[in-house]
Amino acid sequence: MDINILKNLVFILKKYLSTYLMSSENLTMDIDTPGLIKDLQKLIKIPSVSARKQNLEECAKEIVQMMKEIGINSELIYLDNDDKKKSIPPLVYGEVKSKSNPNGKTVLFYNHYDVQPEEPIDLWKYDPFEGKVDGNLIYGRGASDDKGELITRLKAVEYFIKNYGDVPSNIKFVVEGEEEIGSNNISKYLEAYNSKFNTDLVIWEFGYVDQEQKPIISLGMKGLLYVELTAQGASRDVHSSLAVLIENPAWRIVQALSTLMDRRGRILIKDWYKEIKELSDEENAVVESEPFDEKSFKKEYGINRFINDLKGKSVKKALICEPTCNISGLNSGYSGQGAKTITPSKAMVKIDFRLVPNMDPLVQFKRLENHLKDNGFEDIKVTKIHGEAAGRTELSNQYVKVIQKSANEVFGDSIISISSAGTGPMYDFIEILKAPCISIGGTYVFSKIHSPNEFARIDLLEKTTKCMIRIIENLAKSVL
Ligand SMILES: [Zn+2]
Repeated sequence: MDINILKNLVFILKKYLSTYLMSSENLTMDIDTPGLIKDLQKLIKIPSVSARKQNLEECAKEIVQMMKEIGINSELIYLDNDDKKKSIPPLVYGEVKSKSNPNGKTVLFYNHYDVQPEEPIDLWKYDPFEGKVDGNLIYGRGASDDKGELITRLKAVEYFIKNYGDVPSNIKFVVEGEEEIGSNNISKYLEAYNSKFNTDLVIWEFGYVDQEQKPIISLGMKGLLYVELTAQGASRDVHSSLAVLIENPAWRIVQALSTLMDRRGRILIKDWYKEIKELSDEENAVVESEPFDEKSFKKEYGINRFINDLKGKSVKKALICEPTCNISGLNSGYSGQGAKTITPSKAMVKIDFRLVPNMDPLVQFKRLENHLKDNGFEDIKVTKIHGEAAGRTELSNQYVKVIQKSANEVFGDSIISISSAGTGPMYDFIEILKAPCISIGGTYVFSKIHSPNEFARIDLLEKTTKCMIRIIENLAKSVL
């Protein structure tokens, strides 16, 4: 027998033997829950609020340390040395190569260590940066989004290293510090470290678990165009008796806004929907099969109807593939107690447009500018604050089944979703790393992320850790 054939046979045998031996089916998959809670509390206690550029490097360093203790090679990486001065938060990079299966698949876990501001603080039951455990819940800013999710990935890797001194698939971590303020530098990082981050699959930073305890495997994220419109009137606020002569910029803004969208929620900017592709039959079927409890959703948010009285499938379709035009903030004049009769000198509105695949944020921005000019609002200043395209992994991608199998093994069942209604830098990962991105995690759907009293459910953190273990294993076992 040719020596090379023999070598190959030995290699294949070793690979299958090791992945079999490392299979969690041979163990009860005992999760170190006290350790998981302790580590999560450690991270919650660092108020890494990116909006205020607070404690970011400190939190990143703590994660590097945590990774090292687990046995993950880890480091802080910067865009270049000057960036330390420019105060762009570093990425945490972690890597474990499989000794028994070094040529096997690589999975990259993308997460973020920054959190949203905790305000309004008086509405919190417990200190937002304490990590208070109350029954099955652990409270704190970042408990779910995204420190809780990150811990489940770390604990899954720890499980293998602790029990076997090895991992069945190659593992990489990219943990950024600017996700909550728009991931402005992630594409630069991905481009600068493209080969270092090379991977077969990206597991996204979060995933929801619905009220029936089923995880939602999401294959996409919407994009976002965030703009600010400003109208300038007189050089200062003036007595409102002069409103017969002096134009009120608040009216200019309101009039301009009324041209952007009709009462049914349809965006009126020319060619806004031009490049959007219709869902395929297969995608439509998936949307149809997705459960959505309209009643409890309305109850949770204290509303009794949806925009345009949407019902049934169109509600789900709107969440997945409809663009939006949303007024995030509107500011002008006097809004204090009692009356003050002034004509304000300035008015400002912030608008976020959610985008769906094929909508280019720059093209859409140009369309908005043209729309305002064409409608006689050339005096209104338009500033682009943020733009990112939507990202989506095809339903037919080979890894979707591997993730679904892993989720079903732990949760009993799961739901596939074409896209989340939220935004994240998925497009950058798909385009730059040329890797599919799949979102799965343990964030309970009503866990109050971004709001006061954010919490994580401990039972879901445990299950998600097990699910990550299965993903790492099933990737090694799968012949793709
Ligand atoms: Zn968030």
